[in-house]
Amino acid sequence: MVQKINDMMPISPQAEKVLRTLNEAGYRAYLVGGCVRDALLGTEPKDYDITTSALPEETKQAFTGFHVVDTGLKHGTVTVVLDHTPIEVTTFRADQEYLDHRHPSSVVFTRSLEEDLARRDLTINAMAWHPGEGLIDLFGGESDLSSGIIRCVGDPDERFREDALRILRALRFASRLDFRIEPETEAALLRNAGLLEAISAERIASELNGILLGRGPGEILVRYVEVLGIPIPELLPMKDFEQHNPHHHLDVLRHTAAVVDAVPAEKDLRLAALFHDIGKPSCFTQDENGTGHFYGHAKISRNITTKVMRRLKYDNATREQVEKLVMYHDLDTEGREVLIRRWMRRLSPELFARLLFLKRADILGQHPDYRDGLKVLDETRNIMERLLADHVCLTMQDLAVTGADLIAAGVPRGPIVGILLDKLLDRVAEGRLENRKDTLIDWVKENYHED
Ligand code: ATP
Ligand code: MG
Repeated sequence: MVQKINDMMPISPQAEKVLRTLNEAGYRAYLVGGCVRDALLGTEPKDYDITTSALPEETKQAFTGFHVVDTGLKHGTVTVVLDHTPIEVTTFRADQEYLDHRHPSSVVFTRSLEEDLARRDLTINAMAWHPGEGLIDLFGGESDLSSGIIRCVGDPDERFREDALRILRALRFASRLDFRIEPETEAALLRNAGLLEAISAERIASELNGILLGRGPGEILVRYVEVLGIPIPELLPMKDFEQHNPHHHLDVLRHTAAVVDAVPAEKDLRLAALFHDIGKPSCFTQDENGTGHFYGHAKISRNITTKVMRRLKYDNATREQVEKLVMYHDLDTEGREVLIRRWMRRLSPELFARLLFLKRADILGQHPDYRDGLKVLDETRNIMERLLADHVCLTMQDLAVTGADLIAAGVPRGPIVGILLDKLLDRVAEGRLENRKDTLIDWVKENYHED
């Protein structure tokens, strides 16, 4: 529901002060872009960007005595810091020619708000607001916002050729707001998808994260797999790949999309959902009844995950977390406490808990007749929570002995100490040995022989 903001722009006192100062100094200054869009949507803007006729030096002069940072003078941006809140102020710009599908060859400052708005990517991102003039909406942004439409400002082919990142931005905003992409913008985006080759890995990863964390990533994935398939060709074989299995009424891509939508909107889980079955097409077999199987697909999916996430330059911690979620997405606890304890010990209680989110979503993406697994998962979660509440020993830190204790009991220094600790923890975590120092030392004495 789009709101009227003329009288009630939820503007922060700091942004209000920057606007007032510039306007009183004789310049024109407007809120612009994301904050206007979000205000119209009734969500609180995460930051306030200001666009102004003042040149960077003029802005700095208007804020003499205040803390002002030269954020990107070349691009006309200075940051005014008021009460520790940074406000970006950018001079009206008109971009010049784009040579590499990403960076304008030069930026020219202009005294025209209209030109500045015209260079922006989407109609919903090209609105400005002024305390006296109200909403400035030259491209139908407000109407697109209320109809749920993603549309380029101007000729979409031209806009995507200028800057191919806009292709992914369009998908990201469509996913984030659960909007649909207007047909001409959509056609242009599909036609120009190849230009994404020019975009850096970091930018691709950041937009992919944005797409995945939106409200409607699944539909974007299914509908625009050819676009995402430029930077991630590994996604393409999933499209229309029938599973020939009673558990699955959806092909691999549609199933994946359903799992992405069903998992909580957190980066590791959404990425793991995206990749969890990506190895399926390469290990498909059919038995004599024609039923499809994908033996070993979790491991193949994990290997593909590694390759893709390295290529897109994800940080190691994120990649390793996603790899593990993908690798173990098919493990089965059967709701049995001993297996739950074993997997909590092997994966860590934290990772195991996250895995249950992925497994739940995975089941929700399967045929409705085969969702008994949900009950098993509920039981598993209950047992897990009880074990955690009881502070059951599942990690080395909780074990009642340390390496030093084993050495004191006669075990020689060296790798054997770690091996024995591991064996002890396995047994304690699975409830087969009591977590008491004397019990554990006795077990070691009985089971360790020097040969
Ligand atoms: P978010 O809430 O994700 O920050 P935003 O709209 O503020 O959304 P930014 O990436 O911060 O997005 O960009 C600020 C504004 O700059 C956008 O609203 C848009 O008007 C303009 N913009 C950003 N990137 C581009 C681009 N590649 N091409 C054209 N205009 C752009
Ligand atoms: Mg922003």
